[in-house]
Amino acid sequence: MSKNKSSEAVKVVVRCRPLSRKEESTGPAGGIVQMDLRLGQVILRNPRAPPSEPQKTFTFDAVYDSSSKQRDLYDESVRPLIDSVLAGFNGTIFAYGQTGTGKTYTMQGLWLDPEKQGVIPNAFDHIFTHISRSQSDKQYLVRASYLEIYLEEIRDLLDPNHGNTRGLELRESPETGVYVQDLTSCVCKSIKEIEEVMNVGNQARAVGATDMNEHSSRSHALFLITVECSQPGPDGRKHIRVGRLNLVDLAGSERQAKTGVQGDRLKEAAKINLSLSALGNVISALADGRSSHVPYRDSKLTRLLQDSLGGNAKTVMVATVGPAPQHYDETLTTLRYANRAKNIQNQPRVNEDPKDALLREFQKEIARLRAQLNHRRFRSKQKKEQVDGEAWERDGDEEGEELEEEEVEKEAEEFVKLEEQRLEKENEAIREDQFLLAEEKQKLLGENEKMMGDLRKRQEATEQLTARYKAMESKLLVGGKNIIDHTNEQQKMLEMKRQEIAEQTRREREMQQQMLVQDEEAVELRETFTSLQQEVEAKTKKLKKLYAKLQCTKAEIKDVNDEHVRSRQELEQTQNELTRELKFKYLIIENFIPPEEKNKIMNRLMFDPDEDEWKFKPLVPEESKSSQMKKRPLSAVGYKRPISQYARVAMAKGTHPRYRAENIKLLELDMTPPNTSALTDGEQNQSPTLNNSPSNDKGICKSRSWYQSQKSITSSSSNNSLVGCQMTAPAAAM
Ligand code: ADP
Ligand code: MG
Repeated sequence: MSKNKSSEAVKVVVRCRPLSRKEESTGPAGGIVQMDLRLGQVILRNPRAPPSEPQKTFTFDAVYDSSSKQRDLYDESVRPLIDSVLAGFNGTIFAYGQTGTGKTYTMQGLWLDPEKQGVIPNAFDHIFTHISRSQSDKQYLVRASYLEIYLEEIRDLLDPNHGNTRGLELRESPETGVYVQDLTSCVCKSIKEIEEVMNVGNQARAVGATDMNEHSSRSHALFLITVECSQPGPDGRKHIRVGRLNLVDLAGSERQAKTGVQGDRLKEAAKINLSLSALGNVISALADGRSSHVPYRDSKLTRLLQDSLGGNAKTVMVATVGPAPQHYDETLTTLRYANRAKNIQNQPRVNEDPKDALLREFQKEIARLRAQLNHRRFRSKQKKEQVDGEAWERDGDEEGEELEEEEVEKEAEEFVKLEEQRLEKENEAIREDQFLLAEEKQKLLGENEKMMGDLRKRQEATEQLTARYKAMESKLLVGGKNIIDHTNEQQKMLEMKRQEIAEQTRREREMQQQMLVQDEEAVELRETFTSLQQEVEAKTKKLKKLYAKLQCTKAEIKDVNDEHVRSRQELEQTQNELTRELKFKYLIIENFIPPEEKNKIMNRLMFDPDEDEWKFKPLVPEESKSSQMKKRPLSAVGYKRPISQYARVAMAKGTHPRYRAENIKLLELDMTPPNTSALTDGEQNQSPTLNNSPSNDKGICKSRSWYQSQKSITSSSSNNSLVGCQMTAPAAAM
């Protein structure tokens, strides 16, 4: 398998949606976005600028205007990427843009209309069609996961309890890079199954949200597909290639309003776009090429997409824009963002024989089950032939012969039937036998019964084994099996032709773009001037052109500066709010929390670099916990628990065994009774109760004190003094 070590730029395409009916009726006529499909250019008009101001032009790998079809975008820009994933590369497609510009439309589309299906359903089709058409020596395993990042928490959309559990954690391994721990992953055998997975996830997404639009504009949805393919290599061994596909529908890129919000709302607002601004910073750092530090660790999203941006993956970014004039600023920001992403270089390579391939485990398990089944079949056959009295003629090595599982099942069933018949006959014979004693008969019948039970158990075990084997095997998709379903070779040809056309269009556009660049240079070189006048004219023309370019660049610089100032102001504002919040918290800590408590808490704090947050150390250190628990107090030597001198004496006297140890409640307190008549009266009135107490009878202690007298009455209460008073008052009144 060839390993492509060369680098490859992130592919960026821009799509503009049609004007909505509302925009058509309310806004000024016409959109502000023009597209040159041939050149892959987007021309943006500033609705507020005077007509003399030049329009802004951006060039991308491809552009799709409002009349573009889902299928065109897929065939031209996505199909090659999915083909790479099927060949074992990592691939990522992400949709970026303002809310309402068609990210979800592009990624998912309208499921019921085949014409309007988005990238994801088309990818499902593509993957499973590819598998069914591949050669029969290939085995595939397809898995899908679906997650969402909301307020910097990862939620598993396929886990029914995802709403109740804490967000999932990210882990990193040298083999697979960054992954989500404990993420549900569903093995899918068909388009229908994977669509079901998608639907379950989409429903889970909608259920948690009070306002779906609001929610989806603030959360990132990632659909992950892993395609593992095993194929015998030239060395005769099976090699596994694993392609991972991330389909990402990002949160709306519009600025979240942060003005005027405080407390939790502020934190929320700061967190919502944290992932997106971190993504922007990562893209900037990568596009710049000079910065040595790429801030992947700043957010969950960037960590998850680490490989897709500047790493081992092929990446396509679909930037979506709307044509409405009122969204000019956001559209411009999106185009700039997309323009920067073009400069990112990835290093995709085929993932061959990774250690974590699930397919290998499946294959091993299937082989094990198969061996077990064959072994069983061999044994039952042997038995059968022993029973039949036939000689076992075949060679032993036939045990390893590959068998159809139905055959195994049929033979096992047959064998059981025969055995049962035989045992039944034997039972009859025993019952009819006149010479046997009743006892002996019973014994023989019992033995037969047991044999029959064993037989059935064995049969059941074989059935279970076969079922498991079948279930496992059905999960693996084998190429070429369903080829009859797709005999329409014509369709295949048609698809190939379409692919070719898409490829050609792409190449044509690339050439056009190159030509445009070269033209400008070439004209200059070829120019020869016949007269001075001509030269002046030509140079003036050129000067004008350059001047226009200069103006454009100046405007661009101004724009970028403005943008920079704006985002800086916003950040400053957020910082001010956060500082205020912090000061407020400090104020509370300084004035309302005792310093020793504060110190205790401070001493327990530690920073967890894995999860990027502060945590409490456990109160008792983990390692010393067990030893501390085991240590016995010194005073307890020889006894079950610490014991006072008083109790020891009591024990020596041989009193009631129940009171051998300490009973704090019965201890005599050396306390002068308070000098209030009510209490004294109370005590007198209660004395009969005290005299009745069992401890008093045993002579362990004499309860004299007022304090204890209350306790004996209200022993279940925790608030002794209060309840004591309440109890004594009515007693005194008696
Ligand atoms: P986002 O996910 O970016 O917030 P949506 O995908 O929900 O935006 O799109 C908003 C609306 O615009 C939807 O009603 C969608 O059907 C429509 N829409 C978006 N893009 C297109 C397009 N290319 N063609 C037709 N309708 C579109
Ligand atoms: Mg959406």
